[in-house]
Amino acid sequence: MDHLKTDKLSENLIIVRLGSDAISGVKTSNGIVVIDAGISAHLTQIYRGILESEFGQTHFCYLFNTHSHTDHIGGNQVFKDALIVGHQNSLKEFQNADIERLASGPKVLNIINSYNEKLNNSDSASADWEEAFEQKLRYEFLQKDISAGYHLLPPTKVFTDSLKLKSGETEIELVYFGKAHSRSDILIYINDPGVLFTGDLFSKYGRPSFYDSTTIDIAHWNKLREWIKVKSTKTNFIIGGHGQRLDANDLAGFIELVEINAFDSFIRRQRVCDLHTLSAYSVYNVSRQC
Ligand SMILES: [Zn+2]
Ligand SMILES: [Zn+2]
Repeated sequence: MDHLKTDKLSENLIIVRLGSDAISGVKTSNGIVVIDAGISAHLTQIYRGILESEFGQTHFCYLFNTHSHTDHIGGNQVFKDALIVGHQNSLKEFQNADIERLASGPKVLNIINSYNEKLNNSDSASADWEEAFEQKLRYEFLQKDISAGYHLLPPTKVFTDSLKLKSGETEIELVYFGKAHSRSDILIYINDPGVLFTGDLFSKYGRPSFYDSTTIDIAHWNKLREWIKVKSTKTNFIIGGHGQRLDANDLAGFIELVEINAFDSFIRRQRVCDLHTLSAYSVYNVSRQC
């Protein structure tokens, strides 16, 4: 299918995407590890085929959900042969998300129609047209899931603070970040090829994607500072929740945010970035791609 893109970052790390929808695959000697499952099972089934052919392997050992927003868990069922792992808090979020998703058919149709309008009114050679087309496709895949009555498949294994796993010789660490972008945000570090998956916690320049003032959890964030700093010295790739490549500076910006003076940092950063203020505590919304 046109518009599907495959980024092979190393021999054992691949990102497959359609616009802002993306999943990542890491090949290990014991099977493929997948990070996030996209918005739609129909679409993620295609991603799965690409990972299988790129890696020459059909065994999937783990699927990790960086958090339980529906654009990261919609395709979980495609990997039901693997152990699906997420944070404990995601179980409750899954229940709510499943009900809302199945009821969202009319809303999704409206979104598709608005993208159709945008396509009719923009230059087909422009980047805007391309982006609108990919978004329209993405929502059409979601609509297929809803029409088919697909339920979201929750994790088969959950954890509270941290979890260490192995896949062959590959070592994997999962840590709960604390309430932030959602209530189930985790970080995932895989030692080969040295990759850190950060979900939707932050975007370029370390801008946090926190937009709910009830999810400020500084005490927990501070516990994670050292872990992030140590991992940042052993990391060749940093991948955001929508397949975007981030770098050490972006991570450093985010680490600064989770220092003890996080509120001050929030406020300072907010002035610099001139972002939309949602509360006096400087929680701001940069979640456009979430
Ligand atoms: Zn999200
Ligand atoms: Zn997202």
